[in-house]
Amino acid sequence: MSQAAPETAQPIAFKAEIRQLLDILIHSLYSERDIFLRELISNASDALNRLRFEMLTNREVHDPEAELAIHITADKDNKTITISDTGIGMTAEELETNLGTIAQSGAREFIKAAQENTANLSDIIGQFGVGFYSAFMVAQSITVTSRSYRPEAQAARWYSEGDETFTVTPADKPERGTTIEIKLKDDAAEFADEWRLREIIRKHSDYVAFPIYLGEDKEQINRQTALWRQPVRAVKDEEYDEFFKHLTLDPQPPLARAHIVTDAPIQLYALLYIPASNERGILSLRKEDGLKLYSRNVLIQEYNKDLLPEYFRFVQGVVDSEDIPLNVSREMVQASPVMSRIKSILTGRVHNMIRSLAEDKDNPEKYVRFWENFGVFVKEGIATDMGGREKLYPYLRFRTTRFPDQWSSLNDYLGRMKPGQKKIYYILGDDQRSLVRSPHLDYFRTHGYEVILFDETIDSFMLLGLQKYEGFELQNVAAPDLELPQPDGDKAEKEADAMPDEQFAALVARFKKQLGERVTDVRPTDRLHGSIARLVDPEGTLGQEMQRVYKLMEKDYQTPAKVLELNPKHPTLAALGALDEDDPLSAAVIEQIYDSALLIEGLHPDPAGMIPRIEQLMAAALER
Ligand code: ADP
Ligand code: MG
Repeated sequence: MSQAAPETAQPIAFKAEIRQLLDILIHSLYSERDIFLRELISNASDALNRLRFEMLTNREVHDPEAELAIHITADKDNKTITISDTGIGMTAEELETNLGTIAQSGAREFIKAAQENTANLSDIIGQFGVGFYSAFMVAQSITVTSRSYRPEAQAARWYSEGDETFTVTPADKPERGTTIEIKLKDDAAEFADEWRLREIIRKHSDYVAFPIYLGEDKEQINRQTALWRQPVRAVKDEEYDEFFKHLTLDPQPPLARAHIVTDAPIQLYALLYIPASNERGILSLRKEDGLKLYSRNVLIQEYNKDLLPEYFRFVQGVVDSEDIPLNVSREMVQASPVMSRIKSILTGRVHNMIRSLAEDKDNPEKYVRFWENFGVFVKEGIATDMGGREKLYPYLRFRTTRFPDQWSSLNDYLGRMKPGQKKIYYILGDDQRSLVRSPHLDYFRTHGYEVILFDETIDSFMLLGLQKYEGFELQNVAAPDLELPQPDGDKAEKEADAMPDEQFAALVARFKKQLGERVTDVRPTDRLHGSIARLVDPEGTLGQEMQRVYKLMEKDYQTPAKVLELNPKHPTLAALGALDEDDPLSAAVIEQIYDSALLIEGLHPDPAGMIPRIEQLMAAALER
């Protein structure tokens, strides 16, 4: 019953983006064209789901007795395939807008990715949900005949050859739903073979929740299993991984999973996964964060964001409970005791997954992988979750001055503390390489205290929420009022004698005169060993963590002026003190000491501006 475009139909132009999309799809040499069937089946399944929702919410529907199913037939001789569903259907107006004039956001993203990535077009097509139009990779022409579920609606027919236009005309179709008939291109004749179709359905659509019948004898092809409703022991590892792949199209198997089946006090099925990578990107089937939420076999929400704390949004999966109300809104989730029970069960299971990864001594690389991909979410949780942050502390990993190349935990750090050490020391900055050179570390290096290196943007936020661990306070080594641990005595390196007080006072005066209001004070310190100077906050200013948070939140935030502390035992300062005050080198050296201190704090506004002075100092050095 192939339909040619009726002579009388008025052609309607596809929207520009769709024309572009069609052009790419029709002319691509993509070899895995079989994904078109996945897309059409997924549309049919969406349509069936929406119908079921209408029926549940007691709206009147046309043809209420029709089985909710998908039928696929093929005709080898005529090179055609049809895909029919008894779903929600479309009216003439809906055919026109849904299949021609509204460009989905996905289409635009796809075109963009295709234009940026012409060499690898095939990767992109396979990973994108390119939707209905992907059928034009195999179709010479497509006819869509549809009858909406609305009792008063008329059937209509959409037809296109994938060029600039399509038509919509009245049609005769008494049954509810949509039938898509594809006239295959000659080079796509393989898809008119039922054997081939069976293979494709098994590969891509096995978990579709409605029966997919193939051929005249209506053999059901998909297993139609809601995997999450199976007893835990009945599901094999491969099946879990395969389901994850169907859900996300992520080619990498997940790092961890949790299958939850409970009956009392709440009836709940759920399947949760931690993916192997944080890069969902535009290539995934999942377009947003969130869990797929089902109730009574109906998909209620594609992306539910309220059943886990926000910082666990990297978790993928499905949640299904008869106890969930059909209209879930944010307010509902917060108000409903059922939802908060479910949330607490799911959250507990995510914690279990993370903990098992961390404790898996046979596969330590898995936790490293978890941490490198999702550590930032853990830190976000520590920063934001007042009630739940303590559970996250043990997941934290970081580099330290003693082990700059490997991840340590807070427990590792505690285990390595020196006898009598009372605090957990850390330093905060922009990158590990400058952190390890920081003058704030001098004392700790000399006396063998390990210091944690926090160099991520989010760390300053996190530290506002992580002030104590197992009774040990966390202490920033750059804090001006820091009480130092008592030195051992034996380890302190031999150092030059301090400058005589008078000479040093004169030098401080020179620094103050030269630097003016750029510093609030210049003073000696006994904290430095090997470094010439450092910058610290004046007493009473905001801590460094808060300053960094402000700097991130307000573009114009000015870091308050600092105190420059000098090392009276440093030979460079002794030599500077001996230099005549009017010697131009004196001013240059003072400026350079200040600039170097700014640089190491990550506060220098214009590092390249130092070059002329460095050249001046080089010239002076070479003259001698
Ligand atoms: P998407 O499924 O991502 O929305 P598609 O290009 O696959 O994009 O489909 C476009 C739209 O056409 C769908 O959103 C839906 O409104 C409509 N549609 C497609 N196939 C069907 C169908 N079998 N039954 C009802 N509506 C459909
Ligand atoms: Mg679709």
